[in-house]
Amino acid sequence: MGRSVLVTGGSRGIGRAIAEAFLELGDAVAVASRSGEAPPGALGIACDTSLTADVDAAFATAEEAHGPVTVAVANAGVTRDTLLLRMSDEDFAAVLDTNLGGAFRVARRAAKSMLRAKQGRIVLVGSVVGLMGSPGQVNYAASKAGLVGMARSIARELGSRGITANVVAPGFVDTEMTAELGEERKAEILAGVPLGRYATPQEVSGVVTWLASEAAGYVTGAVIPVDGGLGMGH
Ligand code: NAP
Repeated sequence: MGRSVLVTGGSRGIGRAIAEAFLELGDAVAVASRSGEAPPGALGIACDTSLTADVDAAFATAEEAHGPVTVAVANAGVTRDTLLLRMSDEDFAAVLDTNLGGAFRVARRAAKSMLRAKQGRIVLVGSVVGLMGSPGQVNYAASKAGLVGMARSIARELGSRGITANVVAPGFVDTEMTAELGEERKAEILAGVPLGRYATPQEVSGVVTWLASEAAGYVTGAVIPVDGGLGMGH
C-alpha cells in the first residue's frame, strides 16, 4: 500500500479525477464529500467541510483504514454567483466557509498527523479568479485568494518539519460547476484562453499528484496555474 491520501470534494469533477490519479499510483485514498460518494477503490466518507466535527471525523475514519494521512488535498468548493449589490451575507458566508474555512479545517487536522510523521503534502485547490477577479464572483474570488495567503503561511510555519503547502489554480475546467455557465459567458471566457479550450479534470489532477511526489519535494508556498494561459502565470 502507498501513502494515505485524503481528498475533499472527490465525489465528482476535479476532486474525483484527483482521487483516481492517486489510486492509479497505488496510494490508499479517502474521499470526503457531503454525499459520501467516491470513485471505485477509494473510501467514501460523508463530510461537510464547513463543519469542524465532520472534517475531524473524516480524518479519523481515513486514518483508521489507511494510516496517518500524509497527503491532504482540499478541493471541495462551491459557487453562489451574483453581482455585488445583490450578494447576501449568506451567499458570502456560505462560499467562504466551504472554500476557505473548509481548507483551513483540512489543513489544521492534516498538520497534526503530518507533524508526527515529519512529512506531508498539503495541496489547496484555488482558482485563476482568486488572482484575476471575476464579475459576479466576489465571494468565490475572495475565498480563492484567501487560499494563497493560507498556503504561504502554512509553508512558512511547517516547512522546517518537512511539510509543503501549495495552491493549484485551475482556469476553466469541464465539470458540473462550469456546466452552469451560459453559452455567451463560455465564449467570452474561451476568447481569453490562449489554448482556446477548457481543461480536463485530469489536466488538473496531474499537477496535484506531481506536487505530492518526490519530484516536487522543494516546491512550497507556490501557486501553480493550470489555466491554458488565461492568467499568464498568475
Ligand atoms: P464540482 O463538480 O461542483 O464538485 C465539487 C465537489 O465538492 C463535489 O465533490 C462536492 O460533493 C464537493 N463539495 C461541495 N461542497 C462541499 C462541502 N461543504 N463539503 C464537502 N464537499 C463538498 O466542482 P469542480 O469543478 O470539480 O471543482 C472542484 C474544485 O476546483 C473547487 O474548489 C472549485 O472551486 C475549483 N475550481 C474549479 C474550476 C472549474 O472550472 N470547474 C476552476 C477553478 C477552480 P458533494 O456535493 O457530494 O458534497
